[in-house]
Amino acid sequence: MEIREKLKILKELQEVDDEIMRLKNLNKENPLKIEELDNRIAEFEEELAQEKSKLENVNARRLKTDKMLNEKKALLEQLKKKQFEVKTNEQYQLIQKDIKETARLINDLENELLDLMVEREKEEKEYRKKEEEFNRKKKEIEEEKERLRKEMEESSEKIIIKEDEKKRISARLRDEALLNKYERIRASRGGKAVAIIEEAVCTGCYSTIPPQIFVEIKRGDKIFTCDVCGRILIYKYIE
Ligand SMILES: [Zn+2]
Repeated sequence: MEIREKLKILKELQEVDDEIMRLKNLNKENPLKIEELDNRIAEFEEELAQEKSKLENVNARRLKTDKMLNEKKALLEQLKKKQFEVKTNEQYQLIQKDIKETARLINDLENELLDLMVEREKEEKEYRKKEEEFNRKKKEIEEEKERLRKEMEESSEKIIIKEDEKKRISARLRDEALLNKYERIRASRGGKAVAIIEEAVCTGCYSTIPPQIFVEIKRGDKIFTCDVCGRILIYKYIE
């Protein structure tokens, strides 16, 4: 087989290996992305829980104030009845003082209750808004998680297909030594055994290739490797 044909096969082989590497990376990265998305959901849940406890706090204060108000109102009724039962003027004066004081307290509590109702309404609105926002975001995140899971499933299937394709391309090379060399460089050079070049520069390490060598690489009748990184140099438009 002509060297030119072998180079073309090596170029194909590198393309398949690139794709396999991309798919394998995806299978490594996606679980991390999914974990990150789960963390975001947990953060939102925490925020929402805080908002809810604010609302519950206002509610509790409102109930307490309401209870006190009813107690004071009942007391006022009692005092009003009692004022006609007293025997002395002194006792009457005392009860009048109590009635006045209780009425003042009732007035204060009623004002407080009104304020709390306004606050409650505000907190309630705030909470509903947060809840709605959370549900919307959660839905988006769950959809993204589903997409990532599906992508992983698909890439696992694609890897099997691509590995098979690689076997067939390798068999076409019919050059065990060259194939071993390719795999050796690939293993030591981050998955890239071949540098596809268009100009007199190695695309693997960006070192300059002597002009005469570049001319020979373009011709494609001999296998050249980069002096610096050792990758097999193949001209992009090899025919
Ligand atoms: Zn190089």
